[in-house]
Amino acid sequence: MGFTRTEAIVLKTKNLREADKLITLFTREHGKMQAVAKGLRKVKTRYGASLEMFTHNQVMLFNKTDRDLAKVTGCQVLHPFYSLRESFFKYSMASYLLELVDQLSEYNQANEDIFNLLGKCFSLMETGELKTRDNYLLLWDWFAVQVLDMSGYRLALQDCVFCHSQAGHPDEAVYLSLLNGGLVCPDCLSRSGEVDKMMGPDFRSLIRLQNCDLSGITGLDIIPDSRVAIKKYLEKYFNYLLGYPLNCQDFFMTGKAAA
Ligand SMILES: [Zn+2]
Repeated sequence: MGFTRTEAIVLKTKNLREADKLITLFTREHGKMQAVAKGLRKVKTRYGASLEMFTHNQVMLFNKTDRDLAKVTGCQVLHPFYSLRESFFKYSMASYLLELVDQLSEYNQANEDIFNLLGKCFSLMETGELKTRDNYLLLWDWFAVQVLDMSGYRLALQDCVFCHSQAGHPDEAVYLSLLNGGLVCPDCLSRSGEVDKMMGPDFRSLIRLQNCDLSGITGLDIIPDSRVAIKKYLEKYFNYLLGYPLNCQDFFMTGKAAA
């Protein structure tokens, strides 16, 4: 790599010996990366708040060879996203968006769509346009569906993953297969192994969530029962993909952050 300059959002930080910090970044050009910031805790003014969680920075990194951990050699804040630290609720929510990105991303796999998605969601959270707690939680559901999509785990909901026939009447329950990544029609159930049943209206709402863009989420008008059913299914899908529960799982279900 040598010297590189890239935009980066800080996913997490960890104190190392002396005053160094290990910073996990999500960069525009290289995806998830780790780098050491030397003396960061000793000389606070050196980078200011630039390498705190959530911040969007222009960073300069250096490593001698690709096998070495990069060092941060310079940093400039582009968006501090200060307001995400102002309430415990917003802080939790923003942390959990980062957790999803962190858990679903491999190191050094560029994914500019995810980089842009994070920036847009943080910006929206900062404007206060979402107003209600419920809208923030809806953003969370939407983000989870979008980040799955952008990470290559999009749920196939339009037609049966085996025979490509369309789902039946909107009120009819459908079957979803985690293993096969989406909808299984009644005729193909014997081929799919374990499936989950989802009620028709919940399924339609999940499709709307998947197809909606960021500006449209507050107009989605998904009924509470469907919200719960969708959250439960997404929770199960994340568990299946990762092999362990997310830290944010309780928040995901209840909107209450773990203390
Ligand atoms: Zn089928």
